[in-house]
Amino acid sequence: MAEDKDKVYKCDECQKIVYLMEAGRGDELKCCDRKMKEMSEKEKEPYHPRFPRPGAP
Ligand SMILES: [Zn+2]
Repeated sequence: MAEDKDKVYKCDECQKIVYLMEAGRGDELKCCDRKMKEMSEKEKEPYHPRFPRPGAP
């Protein structure tokens, strides 16, 4: 559980979710001409591929 470096960004404009698997280079992710918002651990949990949603096969 020590390698949880993935970041998840969400665009407030179009609700698009982006996973950033590699360590960033300080670049800001942009979507819809806006900065994407980095999700907190709690926020990204339901979206994270390692945490399947309840009810998923
Ligand atoms: Zn967007």
